[in-house]
Amino acid sequence: MSQETQENIVAGTHIWVEDQELAFIDGIVVDVVEQEVEIQTSDARTIFTNLSKVYPKDVEAPAGGVDDMTKISYLHEPGVLHNLATRYEINEIYTYTGNILIAVNPFQGLSNLYDAYMMEQYKGAPFGKLRPHVFAIADFAYRTMFNEKKSNSILVSGESGSGKTETTKMLMRYLAYFGGRASAEGRTVEQQVLEDRVTLVVTDVIHCAVVADGIYVRSNPVLEAFGNAKTVKNNNSSRFGKFVEIQFDKQGKISGAAIRTYLLERSRVCQISDPERNYHCFYLLCAAPPEEIERYKLGNPKSFHYLNQSKCYELVGVSDANDYLATRRAMDILGMSKKEQDAIFRVVAAILHLGNIDFAKGDEDSSVIKDNESKFHLKMTAELLMCDPHALEDALCKRVMITREEIIKKSLDPLGATVSRDVLAKTIYSRLFDWLVDKINISIGQDPRSNCLIGILDIYGFESFETNRQIAIYAPHIFPFHLLIGDDDLKLATMKGLARPKKKGSAAKLQLEKFLHFDAHVLTLEFKYIILCSFEQFCINLTNEKLQQHFNQHVFKMEQNEYSKEEIDWSYVEFIDNQDVLDLIEKVIMHFIFSLPVLRKPGGIICSYFAVDLLSIVLHSPEDLKPGGIIALLDEACMFPKSSHETFAQKLYQTFKDHKRFIKPKLTRSDFTIVHYAGEVQYQSDLFLDKNKDYVVPEHQNLLSASNCSFVAALFPLLSEETTKSSKFSSIGSRFKLQLQQLMDTLNSTEPLYIRCVKPNNLLKPALFDNISVMQQLRSGGVLEAIRIKCAGYPTHKTFSEFLDRFSILAPEILKQNYEEKDACKWILEKMELTGYQTGKTKVFLRAGQLAELDARRTVV
Ligand code: ATP
Ligand code: MG
Repeated sequence: MSQETQENIVAGTHIWVEDQELAFIDGIVVDVVEQEVEIQTSDARTIFTNLSKVYPKDVEAPAGGVDDMTKISYLHEPGVLHNLATRYEINEIYTYTGNILIAVNPFQGLSNLYDAYMMEQYKGAPFGKLRPHVFAIADFAYRTMFNEKKSNSILVSGESGSGKTETTKMLMRYLAYFGGRASAEGRTVEQQVLEDRVTLVVTDVIHCAVVADGIYVRSNPVLEAFGNAKTVKNNNSSRFGKFVEIQFDKQGKISGAAIRTYLLERSRVCQISDPERNYHCFYLLCAAPPEEIERYKLGNPKSFHYLNQSKCYELVGVSDANDYLATRRAMDILGMSKKEQDAIFRVVAAILHLGNIDFAKGDEDSSVIKDNESKFHLKMTAELLMCDPHALEDALCKRVMITREEIIKKSLDPLGATVSRDVLAKTIYSRLFDWLVDKINISIGQDPRSNCLIGILDIYGFESFETNRQIAIYAPHIFPFHLLIGDDDLKLATMKGLARPKKKGSAAKLQLEKFLHFDAHVLTLEFKYIILCSFEQFCINLTNEKLQQHFNQHVFKMEQNEYSKEEIDWSYVEFIDNQDVLDLIEKVIMHFIFSLPVLRKPGGIICSYFAVDLLSIVLHSPEDLKPGGIIALLDEACMFPKSSHETFAQKLYQTFKDHKRFIKPKLTRSDFTIVHYAGEVQYQSDLFLDKNKDYVVPEHQNLLSASNCSFVAALFPLLSEETTKSSKFSSIGSRFKLQLQQLMDTLNSTEPLYIRCVKPNNLLKPALFDNISVMQQLRSGGVLEAIRIKCAGYPTHKTFSEFLDRFSILAPEILKQNYEEKDACKWILEKMELTGYQTGKTKVFLRAGQLAELDARRTVV
């Protein structure tokens, strides 16, 4: 809270004060002695706290909240939070912050909120005239695209389960409603087919199932069947990021669409934990009609290792059998032939059988197929993938080593063979997913003549897995054990839904933060629960840093536009950036010779001369000599055979020891912490090197490219000799960075609109608003950052008449004079001896704290 604002907190001021459970609670100041404030809270407690934890409350705020945060008199965290909570209570789930839409997930169907009548209401309505709504954003984008011929992008973000995908669907539904063809007249059959496909991909017309309690469930059948899964946070969680680009023709009708996807979660294919599920498609196939079950030798999902690691097989309100048929229908519409569909589901079935192949110890360090059951699954896998069963066995249990003298076949031990099996399953699945995305793109077709598009981004939010939570334990006698923080606490936290069970390869920590309360029966402790993040979260958080920068620049620009429109001086408003975190992560190495792939080919010496020459041209400033960012160092580590995650971490510690966004956590040899815009995140580097290598095991590649099924063989096209020989290193991190850059280029060439989705509680229940969790999301969604940017300039914008309504009491004399509104405002401001404010053409712009000061003077009057 700013110094000036605090000075206006005196006895009698209505305030918000920080609170452990509610984030903030309201109250009245009883007394202030230097920095110490005595407060009577609204729940009748007397508390003493520091002035820095106290915020002025707007007692004149309307009872139902305001529909735009910028109308809040005091723009600070408690003000924003209270406004959202107040609105949520009366089912107003949408609120603007300027032209950013905040959408709080209702977790229930709100009547008529998205029907055709509602769409008609928003059509052409000036932005801000009607209640905030996702249709208003869609309409704004559509009109800008149509009238001004400008491309738009709508960026939908938020944590898992906050409603991004549902919001995306509503946006697309609106665009398809107005951008679809009015009548079938004059259309060729081909045009109709194309339109049906586009409509299917961009909306959920074919399969918008609404379950009994009105909650929307799975739709957009093909992509969701293969890319969504039930997680603890969301029953239909998208496990990939997606950018859908809808193209329009000159008449404003949809003429094509394209989908780009990002980072499918591969590990889910072979590893799930209770109560999550694997990708929907596996369960759908197990619920297929009997003849298909017979053809693929499937059955109860409980009999498959890749599914039975969790006890959750069914979803409430969802029929996998119906969804299977809907997915098949959608595939028909998308032009996937019966042969292709058969191949797709054969591959899905093969993965299930593959997961059931177990290994036993063979001679020495080798492994063999464990038993008859495993042999059956091996046979089935080979049959379904149409490859040779012996070759499959070899590809799973052996590795070919090429030395200078000879080629040796080395056996893998049972553990190695199991890892090899899982790697194969993940590779096949991710190739299948990429094939589906490509096929959808081909079938809906792109319009090369379109010069206007609306892009919609539905991408994972910031991940930190750190929560401060209180745990009440109803058995105080176990108290001594809880000082030894360990697995038991984790189990306890898991039982109470606060933590996920420990997964293989992921470290979890539960730290006792505070001892809060203890009586005869109940012991209340506060824990800090941390799951160390891995490479996937690192990539997700990089995405969010990039989007955050884009967002900040946009918010800053919007503020500047407003100041320019009002012709006020804004030249000294400073822009605060997160470029330093981005440099830390993704800066390229300029001087590092080995990063040039040419050097890995024969003739290295000549090439390195070339590289040195190149360097002398490229390097201009000492800045260029600085080392690359974390991704560059990771790639470097992946290229050196002797690197380990520990040497990689050491290199990071050494390189970034003075970087203010990098921390080496205490008591660890390989973790590192990045100070992201949304908070600190501790990463565990253990699997970074493995996960960064984009590499298909050559034995797997050879096996599947030789498949008799052309579909399977096409998923694994033979690599050119050139690529194989040069063993060119390809890294997931760098490829993702490039993909992100392309996304940013697209976004930068469009007008952005933002929707921030908020999940009001972790129980996925309607009418429950958890302040602490919402505040964390507003912080990591950049909403509070946007507010901070506003506060750096002029957080209060009041029209002259609003200002006079509120403050003419401070200068009653103006009522007697015949002042112009603007002069009357100036008179008051001068009389109050404020400085630094501005008066524009229609509004008064106040610096942080000035509104509080005027309010305080008003109380005195
Ligand atoms: P993830 O990152 O896991 O993919 P998400 O942000 O895409 O999560 P959704 O799948 O869109 O989240 O929403 C989760 C659930 O919340 C939906 O299945 C639905 O039950 C409910 N929901 C979301 N938005 C709405 C809405 N506007 N009206 C009613 N229910 C909603
Ligand atoms: Mg989603």
